[in-house]
Amino acid sequence: MKEKFDVVVIGAGAAGMTAAIFAARGASKVCVIEHRSEPGKKILQTGNGRCNLTHETVKAEDYGFTDKYKTDFLKSALESFGVEETLAFFDSLGVPVRNKGGYIYPYSCTALSVRNALWDEMKRLGVEIMADTGVKSVSDGDTLKLSLVTLKKQDAAERITEHDIFTKKLILATGLCAAPKTGSDGSGIELAKKLGLNVKTPLPSLVKLKCRDDSCKPASGVRHITRVEIMAGGKVVGEDTGEVQFTDDGISGIPVFNVSGNVSEALHEGRLVSAHLDLLPDITKEQCEDFIEKKYDLMQERKIYGFFGGLIPVKLLTAVARSLGISAEKRTGDIGMTRVGQLLTKCKKWELEIKETYGFDHAQVCRGGVDLSRLDPETMQVKETPGLFIAGELADIDGPCGGYNLQWAWTSGAIAGRG
Ligand SMILES: Cc1cc2nc3c(=O)[nH]c(=O)nc-3n(C[C@H](O)[C@H](O)[C@H](O)COP(=O)(O)OP(=O)(O)OC[C@H]3O[C@@H](n4cnc5c(N)ncnc54)[C@H](O)[C@@H]3O)c2cc1C
Repeated sequence: MKEKFDVVVIGAGAAGMTAAIFAARGASKVCVIEHRSEPGKKILQTGNGRCNLTHETVKAEDYGFTDKYKTDFLKSALESFGVEETLAFFDSLGVPVRNKGGYIYPYSCTALSVRNALWDEMKRLGVEIMADTGVKSVSDGDTLKLSLVTLKKQDAAERITEHDIFTKKLILATGLCAAPKTGSDGSGIELAKKLGLNVKTPLPSLVKLKCRDDSCKPASGVRHITRVEIMAGGKVVGEDTGEVQFTDDGISGIPVFNVSGNVSEALHEGRLVSAHLDLLPDITKEQCEDFIEKKYDLMQERKIYGFFGGLIPVKLLTAVARSLGISAEKRTGDIGMTRVGQLLTKCKKWELEIKETYGFDHAQVCRGGVDLSRLDPETMQVKETPGLFIAGELADIDGPCGGYNLQWAWTSGAIAGRG
């Protein structure tokens, strides 16, 4: 017997489950195919298990695209389904939220509550959920035929079965390659390509950065408010300020995550990339000079880390001093005014050469994905392939930390599901 659906969604992540719910609320016969046994695994990891599901205000400009087309595309999508609609959606699922300084979380601050609410609503609406099921092939045509492979586990035995289903509308919501252990292993990209879509190379974003040398090692474990400026080919390609975490071999923390997509792109293009760190972001160079002048006599007898200790954590200062060949153990008076000045200047602009990112395993999202110019932002439908829709991270949109990526998953999922 031919099993027919009005809508089939591939991928039970944030975007896919949202799409399935909106499609099913429109009274369609909906099926979700998920190649993992558990849906929404990535949601469980979001916001350190608390799920920062959106931000108080989300504007297209917040995503920081340099491409105006992308900003306009997102603006149009957010006008159709933005923060207000997202909060109403979660209210309809019975998930109250709390606002922590602009960051929106479920009131319980548990990501599990978000995943379970989406899952339960799909079941309530009668969405057929095919877990442990992969897509072997999708054949084109007026009605799409999907050849599926399901892994059936019974007692200790595993059995593979193959079957076909048919649908008029297909929503691809497979994610890209970030955090592949959660299911987004890149297999959706192959499906998208087979369906004739142009997919921009996925690159890791919201990810830690590795330095070319061990400059950071003495500072490992330190967290310090720092301005991060990324230089590639002589140009500034990203900047952010916040708490940077120093590791044995590099830098991490929200401001680093927020510039990491641009770093990935520059490295992918073969450019030399460096991070310029301002460890005293709210103190001007003149104020630094004034500080040395006023305090130098007083501090002559003290060790360098003592002299600077009120400004910069000792371990971090030791790392910066080491890059100038200065031991932070020395007395300020022994190295002289000029060297002290150089050290302060270095603290205002410490250059670290970036070798690579930590890759997809550690990335929260991916840069790249299905080319937006092929999609209609009002429906997420592929313009030249009626019946084929894209939702979530698989489309070429990624944002900074703070709820912007899940917002895109809800926005694009809802729009595609309604379509
Ligand atoms: C550690 C971590 C923390 C994060 N924290 C936040 C946060 O606090 N706030 C925020 O806004 N964003 C956060 N993000 C990003 C956010 O989780 C993603 O942007 C979002 O989950 C993407 O949703 P998606 O549905 O498009 O893709 P995914 O969540 O990746 O879901 C894709 C689904 O499709 C399935 N799938 C893939 N290929 C196939 C296939 N071929 N056949 C069948 N099924 C398939 C996968 O198994 C998966 O279930 C975080 C990400 C990570 C990794």
